[in-house]
Amino acid sequence: MTRPTPPKIWLSSPHMGQAEQHYVAEAFATNWIAPLGPHVDGFEQDLCRFTGAAHAAALSSGTAALHLALVLAGIGPGQEVLCQSFTFSASANPIVYLGAKPVFIDSEAETWNLSPEALAQAIAERRQAGARLGAVIAVHLYGMPAQMEAIRRICQEAELPLIEDAAEALGSTYQGQACGTLGTYGVLSFNGNKIITTSGGGALLGADGAAIQKARFLATQARDAAPHYQHSHIGYNYRLSNVLAGIGRGQMEVLPDRIAQRRAVFSFYHKRFGQRAGIQFLPEPEGSFCNRWLTCILVDPALTGGITREDIRLHLEADNIESRPLWKPMHLQPVFADAPYVGDGTAERLFAQGLCLPSGSNLLPDDLERVADRLAQVLDHGPA
Ligand SMILES: *Cc1c(COP(=O)(O)O)cnc(C)c1O
Repeated sequence: MTRPTPPKIWLSSPHMGQAEQHYVAEAFATNWIAPLGPHVDGFEQDLCRFTGAAHAAALSSGTAALHLALVLAGIGPGQEVLCQSFTFSASANPIVYLGAKPVFIDSEAETWNLSPEALAQAIAERRQAGARLGAVIAVHLYGMPAQMEAIRRICQEAELPLIEDAAEALGSTYQGQACGTLGTYGVLSFNGNKIITTSGGGALLGADGAAIQKARFLATQARDAAPHYQHSHIGYNYRLSNVLAGIGRGQMEVLPDRIAQRRAVFSFYHKRFGQRAGIQFLPEPEGSFCNRWLTCILVDPALTGGITREDIRLHLEADNIESRPLWKPMHLQPVFADAPYVGDGTAERLFAQGLCLPSGSNLLPDDLERVADRLAQVLDHGPA
């Protein structure tokens, strides 16, 4: 006899509010089933209002937004782009789409994001080697703001545009300013697992209205103003659908709740396991506010009696609970084996020890209790 499988607990699943279906129905009722329309305009305005960004272009994905940010920064063949290594591959892939080369930079231990020291060292080293540097990509991983003051200063001194991958950080702030509005361009994602979702979507934020207008133009196949189809630029089909923007407008109404709910999930785990030997959480540095998109722990087997993050992951999985190792650094990925890397192994250590726990805003108290019981079980008694 095997016991029945308990219901699945997901790492992070979509969480709709009340208004999404209303906005989608409105798109149908008015026949705005196109990659432009009033919901796209409204969603862009909602994003600007919430983040304080001067301009926003709603796009088909966060990856598309990163791609267009690099196009606007003038990235092309023969150039190198300095990119945080500890991230999802979508941060780096668009560099290669444009024929440029990524240079991967390590993280620092305080926020797990781009190390200002390693960045400065990489800029000096690559320029010494005769490289043409085009831009810097910093990521606010798991919603935790990177050390933007130092990063911005380095980029200004090096005269490099700074692209902020805030795909995981909608609602996070750094010194009171929204993540996504701290660099030359900011990127958001509304993929299914993010803090709010349009099922798939993204946005490009920026202070330069002409640049964001150009992004909209490039994202709609770069059609020149003419009655016939005329093109002077290579275009892309990257605009967000008006139907999906309707979902986004509904989600924006509940975004403050979603942030509060994710932060409550973090507090729950932290309260239960913050004092456990060998289990470490990521604290919020002074001046930073983290949306706590995912709650992550570091597991040090030297202090847990040999229990590893993989022991924990498998023990949760056996109870139908999804957890996931932290992002595998890009400089360790087979596809980027040839790319230069500058750092001291911090991202590698985080990957070896880190685990993301179920963090959805729709988790019920019973779900959280189930995860906590299971986690306590493996820490107290070892893998079954
Ligand atoms: C999700 C994500 C992206 C890509 O966004 P999509 O909307 O899925 O294309 C980029 N960077 C990071 C750090 C992400 O987490």
